[in-house]
Amino acid sequence: VFERTRPELRIYYSELLTLPLPEGHRFPMAKYRMLRDSLLREGVLSADQILPSPLAPPEALHVAHAPSYVRSVVDGSVDSKIMKRIGFPWSEALVRRSLATVGGCLAAARRSLTHQISGQLAGGTHHAHFDAGEGYCVFNDIAVACRTLLFENAIKRPAIVDLDVHQGNGNSSILGQDKNVFILSLHGEKNYPFRKVPSSLDIPLPDQCDDELFLRELDRGLGAVEEFKPDMIFYQAGVDPLYADRLGKLSLSFAGLIERDRRVMRYAQERRIPLCISMGGGYAEPIELTVEAHVNTYKTLREVYRC
Ligand SMILES: [Zn+2]
Repeated sequence: VFERTRPELRIYYSELLTLPLPEGHRFPMAKYRMLRDSLLREGVLSADQILPSPLAPPEALHVAHAPSYVRSVVDGSVDSKIMKRIGFPWSEALVRRSLATVGGCLAAARRSLTHQISGQLAGGTHHAHFDAGEGYCVFNDIAVACRTLLFENAIKRPAIVDLDVHQGNGNSSILGQDKNVFILSLHGEKNYPFRKVPSSLDIPLPDQCDDELFLRELDRGLGAVEEFKPDMIFYQAGVDPLYADRLGKLSLSFAGLIERDRRVMRYAQERRIPLCISMGGGYAEPIELTVEAHVNTYKTLREVYRC
């Protein structure tokens, strides 16, 4: 139970997120800094509301990853086939970025337990498995935070609400057998990953899925979350269901994504369930549209929580 009616909003971010990439790489790496800058410029967040993501110590990842995999990423001996599936070249900067992404989620999750809400302008690396990353995901931030807080008995029944257009195969492969974790995934049926790993509730959506269908299915999904009665929600708020996304095949509007965020946030807010937001994917062309959609998530957060 939170005493304050207006939560004190703090969001984690790191300069390490903007990884230098080889010329011509397809990943829109500038979006992290652009998001931070837009949030500040539009007054959605003030500078003192953005905290630096701490680096997770590598051993902290062992709750969700094979120690041998963690070690190989840190020391650079990781299999080149795994790096190819991840999609980024190995570098010291990638190691630090990946540890900051996990550390940011863990810090945000802890903060949401005491302050009702938090999040990071990064993460939602839901394609990372126990012993291998893929799909731009090295380590699984939500799986590590979830397991850490469970082991500490800080939470007992977390739910992951994953609304990124891509199915969270890494979340499911790591946490899918945990009966005290509920994973809801709404995703494009025809989108990567092509071999999905079952979640507690998977809701595959057809190509060109519009706002109406998405929101109806979201309500059904939140109904299942309600039956589970979570004591914490990790929200993977990827904006790649947007119509303009070049990787996602769905067709949500900006208004549809705002309403999506509002429903998840209201659900948590009305029940006083701690909410931790991870950024998730977004690959619109131009990338400014993705950034705008992420900014809307934080505008909606302030509206719902009146903070
Ligand atoms: Zn995605």
